[in-house]
Amino acid sequence: MSATLWNRREVLGGVLAAGALAGAPFRPTFAQQPASSMTDRREFLIRNAYVLTMDAAVGDLAGADVHVRAGAIAAVGRGLAAPGAEVIDGAGKLVLPGFVETHWHVWTALLRSLAGDRQEHGYFPTSRTIGTFYDADDMYAAGRLAAAEAISSGITFLHDWCHNVRAPEYAAGALRALQESGIRARFSYGSPTGASNDASIDLRDLERLHEGWSEHSNGGLLTLGLAWRGAASAATLRDYDVAKELGLPISVHANNYESSAGGIQQLADRGLLAPGMQVIHAVWCTPEEIRALASNRVNVSVSPYSELRIGFGFPIAAELVAGGVTVGLSVDTTTLSGNADMFAIMKAIQNIENGRARNEFKLTARRVLELATIDGARSMGIDATVGSLTPGKRADLIMIDTRAVNLAMLTEPAHLLVEAAQPANVDTVMIDGRVVKRAGRLTTLDVGEVVDAAARASANVRQRSGWTWPSRP
Ligand SMILES: [Zn+2]
Repeated sequence: MSATLWNRREVLGGVLAAGALAGAPFRPTFAQQPASSMTDRREFLIRNAYVLTMDAAVGDLAGADVHVRAGAIAAVGRGLAAPGAEVIDGAGKLVLPGFVETHWHVWTALLRSLAGDRQEHGYFPTSRTIGTFYDADDMYAAGRLAAAEAISSGITFLHDWCHNVRAPEYAAGALRALQESGIRARFSYGSPTGASNDASIDLRDLERLHEGWSEHSNGGLLTLGLAWRGAASAATLRDYDVAKELGLPISVHANNYESSAGGIQQLADRGLLAPGMQVIHAVWCTPEEIRALASNRVNVSVSPYSELRIGFGFPIAAELVAGGVTVGLSVDTTTLSGNADMFAIMKAIQNIENGRARNEFKLTARRVLELATIDGARSMGIDATVGSLTPGKRADLIMIDTRAVNLAMLTEPAHLLVEAAQPANVDTVMIDGRVVKRAGRLTTLDVGEVVDAAARASANVRQRSGWTWPSRP
């Protein structure tokens, strides 16, 4: 990249940042503040909204209020009294739990739409080659971009499947980005990208993080897990054993390609499937493997856009759900999926399942919405905390403005959300009772600054790696 381009990017970033702040009082970004001073956790009363609680016992409530106090859902119902609470007008808004994203290689956010059109420029060679040139600051820049996009799109929880921990400071950089954004997340610790399966991950660092986790958890918003490479070697099995000893949740990619079918059966036969474990993709599954997942209470993360884009095949969400497997939806990597749009992910899943089944009613919009909220939360083991607007749970919620040109009328809310809504319609996002997006604007991150830093880091690491986009001079 030329110096001229750098300067242009800096200027553009500055203009964008100034535009984003125009009309708003100046507030320092959270890079300059301790995480504990993130936006106040005030008492709120969302008044007169259409509330999709995603709690099966309550269902939807039209013209209803949501009372948020001390970071938790205090009450949901009509005509609530909450003297002293800040009132948020819910007229024309849908209110629902924030989306639960279940597997995302956040560090690849700097490689958005960079997988090319030939074998040697495909996703794996691209991400592995550039990934080995990452430094810890790149992890931080990628994390802030991904968290900003997530919050902007209504994702209140993400699972950072970090398979580029090249040294302890890489994990630290990724964690710092999540902390500053105020998002709820699981950070799954993995290997450096491109590393041999003959070496374990940095188990000493994993144990050190686990022991001192209260310092990293951002008041309980962040948890730790293992990004497992599967039963490839004695070293990867050691990773599995240590994670189990520490009581950390384990997540693994399996049965992605037709050629890797049978991987889940092998895990089952070796006794490596355990309750609460997560299997990613599971595109090529036998009925026996689906039964093994269900009977071992192993959950599956489905990533339709990466599975389709890279040619794994069609997701089998409907078969998994019908087989009693808890399914969550995921972004995987914006290198392939392009963006982190959970509305698009939901729509893709419904359309794929109905199209494959040649059945208009195969997977309903309501069921897909459950996968993106309460079932996603179940699949990550956090459904006692979030995933539905149930009194006592933490207040992770989003408000959708139905007065947008692509929505306009309140027809069937679940269908509207799955078929019509877009990230731009996300007006307000609350995580743990803190407002992190209000009136379409993020409060914890300065988007102009985050975008500028990510663009810079992306160009720099591509330059260091010698990687050039094949069709660009
Ligand atoms: Zn993945």
